[in-house]
Amino acid sequence: MLNKKDLLSIEDLSKKEIISIIKNADNFYKNKKISIKERVLNNRTQINLFFENSTRTQVSFEIAGTLLGASVVNFPLSNSSQSKGETLIDLAATLNSMNPDILVIRHPNSGSVQLISEKVTCPVVNAGDGNHEHPTQALLDLLTIQKRVGRTDNLKIAICGDISHSRVARSNIFCHKKLGNKITLIGPKTLIPRNIDKLGVDISYNMADGLRDVDVVMVLRLQKERMDGGYFSSEREYFHLYGLDDRKMKYAKPKAIIMHPGPMNRGIEIDGNLADNLDKSVITMQVEAGLAVRMSVLELLLKNKNENV
Ligand code: ASP
Repeated sequence: MLNKKDLLSIEDLSKKEIISIIKNADNFYKNKKISIKERVLNNRTQINLFFENSTRTQVSFEIAGTLLGASVVNFPLSNSSQSKGETLIDLAATLNSMNPDILVIRHPNSGSVQLISEKVTCPVVNAGDGNHEHPTQALLDLLTIQKRVGRTDNLKIAICGDISHSRVARSNIFCHKKLGNKITLIGPKTLIPRNIDKLGVDISYNMADGLRDVDVVMVLRLQKERMDGGYFSSEREYFHLYGLDDRKMKYAKPKAIIMHPGPMNRGIEIDGNLADNLDKSVITMQVEAGLAVRMSVLELLLKNKNENV
């Protein structure tokens, strides 16, 4: 059950809604082939609007929609009316007149996806807005945790690196606070926002302290495209202090898992060999879980829409 027109943020969801999206996603994870009759997006149009570059997320939504039976249209933005100065609100009105059944939107500015959602009648999925939220990433991370750790509660989670520019960190914080898990943010002072402790997380500027006894280590990319100055002295020093490697992993629980939302920078935020160590790293599983979670979200929003017509 997802009693919402749109999926804009994890902050908006209840614990019950989070669990039901994951439960539905787990069915898709186990059983990827669905019969044509059951495809809830048969004869439906899904438009993907990615104002920011994306590889895995856009393709994942495209495959998810296609497997559910939709005709998926990737709205071409590089040469679009946006580059000719059209406002977002005018674009939303244009899209609405095309009668899509669902819109999937990524935008570099926080709040833009919500703005469009208020102007269109169909459900909207936020595929990442600025450094605000990336709800399907936190949900796919949760499905991966459930499958690899075996539970979604009573967990100690470390989120490491560039917290300031990360919508992935924010969505995961909201998600795990709702589930009652303990979160520690680790990174240099320059990359951890002031006052973020108000969200109920612990903060550590040191990997040895922050990683102690955690079940899950989430590593974030240094999001240089969002940085407007120098936040760290050099990539070499950053890797030495905050890059995840075997030495630092020893502080976590022996069975702790390593996650990364991708794209990852080997040798900067994570050691390449460690990223490839499938005893610990679940990075490829996250991509697989992403497809199942996106199918789940598209299906639940569409069912909800059909019920309310
Ligand atoms: N793919 C994630 C995002 O879109 C993380 C990243 O880009 O580093 O936010």
